[in-house]
Amino acid sequence: MAGRTFPPLQLATVPWSDAQQYTNGLYEGLPLLAYHCAPRSLLATRRQLRAMDLRPNGFDPVAVLYGRHNRSKKTWFASLYLIENAAPIRPMTPAKWTALAKANLARRICRTCGKDPLYVLPTSTRQCWPCFEANENNDVMEAA
Ligand SMILES: [Zn+2]
Repeated sequence: MAGRTFPPLQLATVPWSDAQQYTNGLYEGLPLLAYHCAPRSLLATRRQLRAMDLRPNGFDPVAVLYGRHNRSKKTWFASLYLIENAAPIRPMTPAKWTALAKANLARRICRTCGKDPLYVLPTSTRQCWPCFEANENNDVMEAA
């Protein structure tokens, strides 16, 4: 059989319940749960927390959810957080909007000519296309 097989269900002590719960063993030290088998009211992924306007609040995940992607036959994993530990997301303040705008602007400033070509520059060169082309030509001329 292809792919990794997981250990059968086993009872384990888990952070979200006083009683022992069935898990599919451990994955990187955390209880592993199959898709559809995690308690929705107690555990949530980062995106599910976000949908509830919550954040993990600095807590580490307490379990790992796994499933299988039908088309690619790949196993995916998702970290699960305790909903009771989650905190409300912090609202955006004017200072935070400013910082975000600054960071996004910095992604567009060419490192060579210092201009804003109005698109996000590739992280590999941090140059606008004209500057990148000019450099390319220099390299070719040096090599010749
Ligand atoms: Zn440039």
